[in-house]
Amino acid sequence: MLPVVALVGRPNVGKSTLFNALTRSRDALVADMPGVTRDRHYGVCRLAHRPFVVVDTGGLSGKEEGIEGLTAQQVRLAISEANLLVFVVDARDGVLPLDAAILGELRRSGKPVIVVVNKVDGTDEQSSLGEFASFGIASTLPMSAAHNRGIDLLVETALPQ
Ligand code: GDP
Ligand code: MG
Repeated sequence: MLPVVALVGRPNVGKSTLFNALTRSRDALVADMPGVTRDRHYGVCRLAHRPFVVVDTGGLSGKEEGIEGLTAQQVRLAISEANLLVFVVDARDGVLPLDAAILGELRRSGKPVIVVVNKVDGTDEQSSLGEFASFGIASTLPMSAAHNRGIDLLVETALPQ
């Protein structure tokens, strides 16, 4: 069985862009409209010394009703079947209350968490990382999924040799 890595976070932080970069595909829907991915979406990353399954998710919006609630159920299934959680946050938005709530949920799963600070392009990378250091997650990595920057570091951190 290949290890399973789930991409989790608020809508619009760049999870699907990261999925496409990791799987070298354009399978995941990327859009400016939040909430485009409602179910789970699987791909294989072959950039590591050993391939792993990547699961793109629809994003946690903090709403439990209607379509957002159904999306959240799908995210929770993805969390439960993952070996590792990649928590994607947005460097431009900084730390939002919803991020803290999502992190709490990820922690409660007991699974290992890597924080990926996406969209560091055009920001001061060090201060962006510094802001998310308040989460207290040892593996907090800079990323620009749209520009393929940070992918190798994430892959190495996710599946160390
Ligand atoms: P998701 O809802 O989390 O899956 O987010 P998407 O992958 O659909 O991306 C949401 C928006 O953010 C799109 O307009 C992307 O082009 C943009 N985006 C994603 N990654 C980056 C990045 O690294 N830098 C910048 N500047 N924009 C990004
Ligand atoms: Mg998406």
